Amino acid sequence: NPASMVQALFHLGEMVTATQSVSDDLLELLGGEMGYEIEIVSPDEEDRELLDTFDLAYGENDGGEDDLQIRPPVVTVMGHVDHGKTRLLDAIRHTNIMDKEAGGITQHIGAYQVATELGGNERLITFIDTPGHEAFTAMRARGSKSTDIVVLVVAADDGVMPQTVEAINHAKAADVPIVVAINKIDKEGANADKIRQQLTEYGLVAEEYGGDTMFVEVSARQRINIDGLLAAVLLTADAALDLRANPNMPAQGVAIEAHLDRGRGSVATVLVQRGTLRVGDSIVAGNAYGRVRAMLGDHGENVYEALPSRPVQVLGLTSVPGAGDSFLAVEEDRVARQIAERRQARARKAQVANRRRITLEDLGTALAENKIENLTLIIKGDNSGTVEALEDSLMKIVVGDEVNLRVVHRGVGGITQDDINLAATTSAIVVGFNVKPVRGVQELADREGVDIRYYTVIYQAIDEIEAALKGLLKPEF
Ligand code: GDP
Repeated sequence: NPASMVQALFHLGEMVTATQSVSDDLLELLGGEMGYEIEIVSPDEEDRELLDTFDLAYGENDGGEDDLQIRPPVVTVMGHVDHGKTRLLDAIRHTNIMDKEAGGITQHIGAYQVATELGGNERLITFIDTPGHEAFTAMRARGSKSTDIVVLVVAADDGVMPQTVEAINHAKAADVPIVVAINKIDKEGANADKIRQQLTEYGLVAEEYGGDTMFVEVSARQRINIDGLLAAVLLTADAALDLRANPNMPAQGVAIEAHLDRGRGSVATVLVQRGTLRVGDSIVAGNAYGRVRAMLGDHGENVYEALPSRPVQVLGLTSVPGAGDSFLAVEEDRVARQIAERRQARARKAQVANRRRITLEDLGTALAENKIENLTLIIKGDNSGTVEALEDSLMKIVVGDEVNLRVVHRGVGGITQDDINLAATTSAIVVGFNVKPVRGVQELADREGVDIRYYTVIYQAIDEIEAALKGLLKPEF
């Protein structure tokens, strides 16, 4: 159906900013067909140059073949709301042997590791502890790849739903293999075969059907077959991926989440992706820097050395990095500070530039000066009727021949971080009709320079956007 096509394409468009692993030709082809312009953005050249001046590089100095050692897979759990993502993450955490040994005092730091047995070997798996695709898209919007495998949760009594499809698109766009967890098999009316059937339509064909996707039937609530799911994750990692990293180098990785703690200052959970992170290391994470004063694991234990794929809470940064920011350990405090300061200066400049490019006030001028050719919108409303009505009316606005109005995403509900990430990657303005942003959204929009517009009257929305397109909207002060 066209809506999901648009969405699929959209996630493809998003992908090119983050990875280079899919053919650009295909994207342009798809884009052209759907009337989209697809911009292929290279990795942040400027940042590369900055690191280069300090003789540093991110993700490139992996060392020789001999240095590479097997690392645990990093997994994100995605799926439709209420299909059991949170419950499953909980069940996985508590059925695990490491937990029993450590006494079971768990700390939620944004990610955790579990140990499981496969073929007589104890193997680790890292789970990102934020269910849903918000964390996933946030990281990808910043160009980090943090996930090796997606566990797609589908409730056996419900079936494939919109966010299931969205999750599949996200995973495909990022070229990440999927393991399907058919959840709630304890429920009456559970029909696992129906799920297998439905998912073939989305290219996920179960091994039993001759495909290469592993499907595992579980109950998160009754903790049935959680071990089977963990085994499937490891088998998929071993079959499809060659997960190795060099532990013998200064650490690099990605910040998963971070906040300011009244007593402890900046607290950041980072995922080490290569190298070994040690207490005392000087690190720079996005625009933040500092020396690692202490590290805590997901049982609240002190950690002195963190190897690849290990998530740890880091204390000692002077400010709070953003989720998805990459980090790296450097030789000297001075270097970390200088890199962070230059990034801060650049971010301030970029924010100003962003704002100028995207706000509704500046639209008329930007159009007149040919800086942009289209107005791109994301529409969120309190019900599907009003969203459609608003979209229809907006599409009828005519301003000359050249200006096109494109709606890249529409939906019912509050404005989410996902919407903002999408808006940031496509330079869209977000229109909210009778809705409010969810927590943290305004901050993200400010940071990304995304303009959000709220309306409660359809005509007001149309008038204002029409005026903006004609360059008649006066800046608000
Ligand atoms: P999320 O929105 O995907 O994170 O879903 P939750 O983990 O919050 O689960 C939604 C609801 O489904 C909760 O009431 C859970 O108790 C219930 N639930 C989750 N897993 C199972 C399961 O395996 N069996 C049954 N019967 N209920 C489940």
